[in-house]
Amino acid sequence: MRDTSLNSTEEVRGLVRAGRAAIRTGDYEAARVAFTQALVYDTENIEAKDGLADAQRRLGLIAVEQRAAVQEEFCYRHPDVETGLHCVQCNRPICARCSFPGAVGQLCPECRKGRRSVNYQVDWLTLVKAGAAAIVAALIGSFVIGFIPLIFLFFLGIAIGEGVLRVVDWATHNKRGRAVQTVVALGLAAGVAMFYLYQHGHVNLINTLIFLVISIGTAVARLR
Ligand SMILES: [Zn+2]
Ligand SMILES: [Zn+2]
Repeated sequence: MRDTSLNSTEEVRGLVRAGRAAIRTGDYEAARVAFTQALVYDTENIEAKDGLADAQRRLGLIAVEQRAAVQEEFCYRHPDVETGLHCVQCNRPICARCSFPGAVGQLCPECRKGRRSVNYQVDWLTLVKAGAAAIVAALIGSFVIGFIPLIFLFFLGIAIGEGVLRVVDWATHNKRGRAVQTVVALGLAAGVAMFYLYQHGHVNLINTLIFLVISIGTAVARLR
C-alpha cells in the first residue's frame, strides 16, 4: 500500500539518501537496512527497490569473494600448496606438512622455533656426552647381541632400541634435536665399528648389523 502522506514521503527520501550514502562509503549492510526501512513506509518505491537490490548484490559479491579468499590461501612456505590451516601465533596460512600441534593449536615452523622447550636447547658438552653414551651403548650392545639367537632378535628389537635410547637420555637429560640425532647416530656407528675392529672382525655379523639398524633407527626416530 502506498502511503503518500507528507511525513512518510520525507522519511522515505531520507532513508533512500542514507542508503545511497552508505553504498558510497561501502557500508552495504547499512544500505540494505536503510532501503528495507524505506520499503516498509512505501512498498513500491522504485528508488528503494533498486537500492536494496544493489546493496544485496554487493553484499552477495563480498560473500563470494570471502569464500574465494578462504579457498585460495596457500602455505607461506609452499606457495603451491593450498591450505585452510593457520598458525595460531602469526596467523599465516600453513600446510599440514609445515604445521606442528602446539598447546593451543597449529604452529608454523618459525613460531615453533621460538617456543621450543629446553629439551631442544643443546650445548657442546651435551653433544659430547650424547656421543660418548652412544659409543658405550654400541660397545655393550654389540657384545651382548652376539649371544642372542637370531630368532629372539625380532622380539627383542624394540627393547634393544629402547635400551640404547635410555642410556643416551640418561647422559643428555632427555635432549632432542637434529644435532643430538646426528651425534648419537655417528656414535652408535663408531661404537659398533670399534667393537668390530677390537674383535678383528670375529663378530656375529648379522646380529651386529641388526643391532646397528635398530639402534640408529630408534635414535633417529625418537631424538627428533
Ligand atoms: Zn607462525
Ligand atoms: Zn607448507
